[in-house]
Amino acid sequence: MKFGGTSIGSEEQISRVVDLIINEKRKKVVVVSAMAGVTDKLLYISKHIVDLPVSIVDKEVDKFYNEILSLHKSTARGIIDNKRLLNNTLNKIDELAEKLRITLLGVGYLEDLSPRSLDYILSFGERFSVLILAGALESRGIRVKALTGFEAGIITDSNFGLARPIFSKIKYSIKERLEPMLKRGILPVVTGFIAADEKGRITTLGRGGSDYTASLIARYLNAEEVQIWTDVDGILTTDPKIVKSAKLIPEISYIEAMDLAYFGAKVIHSKMIEPAMDADIPVRIKNTFNPECEGTLIVSRQEKVESVVKAVTMAKDVSIINLRGLGMAETPNIAGRLFSTLGEKNINIIMISGSSESNLSFVIRNSDVERTLDLLNDKFIGSDIKAIEVLNDVCIITVVGVGMAGTKGIAAKIFQTVADNDVNIIMIAQGSSEVNISFIVREEDGEKVLRALHNRFIESSTK
Ligand code: ADP
Ligand code: ASP
Ligand code: MG
Repeated sequence: MKFGGTSIGSEEQISRVVDLIINEKRKKVVVVSAMAGVTDKLLYISKHIVDLPVSIVDKEVDKFYNEILSLHKSTARGIIDNKRLLNNTLNKIDELAEKLRITLLGVGYLEDLSPRSLDYILSFGERFSVLILAGALESRGIRVKALTGFEAGIITDSNFGLARPIFSKIKYSIKERLEPMLKRGILPVVTGFIAADEKGRITTLGRGGSDYTASLIARYLNAEEVQIWTDVDGILTTDPKIVKSAKLIPEISYIEAMDLAYFGAKVIHSKMIEPAMDADIPVRIKNTFNPECEGTLIVSRQEKVESVVKAVTMAKDVSIINLRGLGMAETPNIAGRLFSTLGEKNINIIMISGSSESNLSFVIRNSDVERTLDLLNDKFIGSDIKAIEVLNDVCIITVVGVGMAGTKGIAAKIFQTVADNDVNIIMIAQGSSEVNISFIVREEDGEKVLRALHNRFIESSTK
């Protein structure tokens, strides 16, 4: 059972979560994210503190320390009613907060924030929340053990910020750590998102990565199912924050769910699908605030709906890089070299398109643009590439549904709907999967296109 930050934003919410955990009678492991907004705050202070004049670092760190300390302590006080357990939890929160304070001061004074330090700082969100949830469960008479992801057996490479599990290790370590506890009737409560490398240095699995923690644990414990408890009824036909009439999808296949998540539906992390799919473990998305709702079940079965389109999604904060004047003929395999150079630096190419004899376009995250341009200028410009153009302020729109590739005329209908709304398509993905079509429009047109597609293919077809 994985509970996201949105499920543990306050003591009332945590008390609901405790009830849900107690009501689930099967043997289980609990995975928990940081309290809502805390990871964002940790990220903000880290970036803010390196840029500050050293003279005001102390003051800023103190302010932040007090804010974080009081949030977690007051939540603990509101939810743990056993005095001994409360004091124990408060002491541990104090100890952690002190470590966080010292680290932030170090970052501020040295004016140096390495990816490794950032992961260490970001890990505090989950390390605080796990103490509170474990304390709350214990005060209700449950035998629990609070663990970090690493203590639960999640070992990763040292790619700080976006660490990858070392599968040959975690195949054994997760079982070794968790099974003995489960056998003794102890409930493991594990921090999502954070792990450690082989040297024991804290790493993170990427934003939203707690879902991944849950599915890795499920995979290697051979769980019956993975439950993702969040603040919506399940996977909906689109983001309900943008389209109010979005509807629940009761069942969806692994592949469709993975594509939706990869292209912007943040309700689950796209990487969480693979471990579940490998072991054919169903993933159930449930609403902490409406537990009676069945939610969404993600399974291997693939079913085509009449309108083909099951859901639409939007991914923002991306840019197109256009390369012109590629000397393809003279320097063979330039695309291959280019993408492996970017890959080595962990720059993820989200979409590729428009490759011709002399032009190539691809899409990356905004946060990778600077590093990509440096690499291109360093290694390719002048010799292999004549000019680079960057297009910011764009977004990816993705339409997902089994049968997309085999249905005649579906792409035409999708693009016609976009054109009818007076929006220009900047780029279309090549090599989209069998179940999706992705394209790029200007960011300012994104929501309009999302609504139009939702209306044309989902609302109209179910009216
Ligand atoms: P958690 O804290 O539980 O991990 P997230 O904020 O990461 O929760 O994910 C839940 C949010 O995902 C929802 O509040 C919703 O706005 C957003 N979302 C985006 N696309 C979809 C979709 N297709 N279906 C459901 N939720 C979506
Ligand atoms: N707390 C982390 C984040 O905000 C991980 C998660 O929520 O899944 O990204
Ligand atoms: Mg999430």
